[in-house]
Amino acid sequence: MRRNRAKMGARTMMTCPKCQGAMETIVYEGVEVDRCRSCQGIWFDAGESDWLRHEDAAAVIDTGDPAAGMKTNEIDRYRCPRCDGGMLRRVDPKHPQIRYEECTSCRGSFFDAGEFAELIRLHQGPASKS
Ligand SMILES: [Zn+2]
Ligand SMILES: [Zn+2]
Repeated sequence: MRRNRAKMGARTMMTCPKCQGAMETIVYEGVEVDRCRSCQGIWFDAGESDWLRHEDAAAVIDTGDPAAGMKTNEIDRYRCPRCDGGMLRRVDPKHPQIRYEECTSCRGSFFDAGEFAELIRLHQGPASKS
């Protein structure tokens, strides 16, 4: 698996950019993602969210309460927790209710609780589970 991270092993605990809670690292299939212990928002470094776009990953990673995510979803003016770059709001063109933020500098992205799982559900369509 390809790794995009420039400095391996130099990870420090991040602070949630939305609620200032502590973020913990979750490892799924060798990919490290950071999840806020408080609001359950999820940080993906550049490209990580693409690798993990399947239901099994979402079930493990996005365990937050979507209701809590609706609140933090309103916060869209903040600095990147990884590099302090500017965050840009992104909207999935097919599913405008999914709004997440992407760093214009390091290309990491932040999903509020429930958004990542919903994105995957929408992309897979209702027929994916039998
Ligand atoms: Zn948080
Ligand atoms: Zn950044």
